[in-house]
Amino acid sequence: METSSRSTQRCDVLIGGAGFAGLALAIALRQGLGPSFSVTVADPMLGRAATDPRSSAIVAAARRLFETIGVWANIEAQPILDMVVTDSRLTDAVRPTFLTFDGDVEPGEPFAHMVENGALLDALTKKAEAEGVTLQPAAVTGFEVATNRVTVQLAQGDALDARLLVAADGARSLIRERAGIASHGWTYSQSAIVTTVAHEREHNGRAEEHFLPAGPFAILPLTGRRSSIVWTEEAHEAARIVALPDDGFHAELERRFGLHLGEIQAVGARRLHPLGLSVARAFIADRIALVGDAAHVIHPIAGQGLNMGLKDVAALAEVIVDAVRLGLDPGSLAVLERYQRWRRFDTMAMGIATDGLNRLFSNQSDVLRLLRDVGLGLVDRLPGLKHLFIREAAGLVGEVPKLLRGEAL
Ligand SMILES: Cc1cc2nc3c(=O)[nH]c(=O)nc-3n(C[C@H](O)[C@H](O)[C@H](O)COP(=O)(O)OP(=O)(O)OC[C@H]3O[C@@H](n4cnc5c(N)ncnc54)[C@H](O)[C@@H]3O)c2cc1C
Repeated sequence: METSSRSTQRCDVLIGGAGFAGLALAIALRQGLGPSFSVTVADPMLGRAATDPRSSAIVAAARRLFETIGVWANIEAQPILDMVVTDSRLTDAVRPTFLTFDGDVEPGEPFAHMVENGALLDALTKKAEAEGVTLQPAAVTGFEVATNRVTVQLAQGDALDARLLVAADGARSLIRERAGIASHGWTYSQSAIVTTVAHEREHNGRAEEHFLPAGPFAILPLTGRRSSIVWTEEAHEAARIVALPDDGFHAELERRFGLHLGEIQAVGARRLHPLGLSVARAFIADRIALVGDAAHVIHPIAGQGLNMGLKDVAALAEVIVDAVRLGLDPGSLAVLERYQRWRRFDTMAMGIATDGLNRLFSNQSDVLRLLRDVGLGLVDRLPGLKHLFIREAAGLVGEVPKLLRGEAL
């Protein structure tokens, strides 16, 4: 119901969602187009303390984006200096190493860093404020598209006219749903347990991915003697484990983690994340563009979800900046189609790759184990192929947008 206190303001781009994707896009647009280009980000979580206990692997291309938009220097990051991959049963006494990655994508540039989600979000929010992005602590509740604008309703009753509405509102995107864009995919029978572990010995920047029959168990190095754990199990088993009292949880953790880093202790919150794959049927609609998890959600097996979202951000920011500099309307379909062409195929390819990896590794089949171990062993012995995989994982292959190459817009 309309009330007299409601008002309609204007901005060039309204971004629904102040997660990593929404905030990074807002900063990039302001830096690319200057103060005359107004950007608003709306999210009910703005101004509330971050509660996500997760950490993320930020690949080299995404780090270049953060460096270029000026947030990287404010984040504590642990470089991943090498990575080992094992493939065994939980009961096996020894876990032979099938694949190792080390070295840099470019001299002195590690292929990935680990950062804590709370710290990253905090740094992005501060930078957005400093760049003059308007931050609205309110949810997007609906919108109406007209010929040359979209009128967006916010939870507190205000409405905003924008030339473009960006859906950066996560996996259960209301904006995507209201735009009538279907999302295709499936849920996995797995969930991921996430926690942080403190350990006695140094990890020396080593990441470990242990492929166990129920799913991957990843140990990812954080600053200090700590590692972030992403631990995939069948959903019912994951729910059981996460609800265990501390000593029971510790015993399950230690069975998988081992004692190679000395005594371990789970520190901080434990969280359960149901896993799924979904890709939006379109990444754009009239005056709407989807970025990040609003456009796609993938299995965390390769730690690529956020990195893909940042690729969307870099591509969309470049498309908008180019269009506005040419005097074009950033919300027009002709402009947005360039973004969709750029991102959709790459997203499908990554979705299929992570799904295939999960199916190949998360099972009890001895035949598949033999095949994949021969495959991993081969990759391990071919330095050229391994280097290509590292560059691909680091986001540096294909048509890489400027921000991911470390170039300002
Ligand atoms: C266990 C696990 C581990 C992972 N590890 C990695 C990793 O190592 N590396 C990696 O690259 N990726 C990883 N990912 C994926 C990564 O976490 C996500 O891809 C990323 O958080 C998505 O960011 P986003 O900004 O698109 O969405 P989100 O972070 O979900 O942000 C969406 C924002 O939108 C807001 N919002 C929701 N509805 C509305 C509305 N109606 N109006 C306004 N705002 C709204 C929410 O409050 C939220 O702030 C992992 C995922 C999981 C589950």
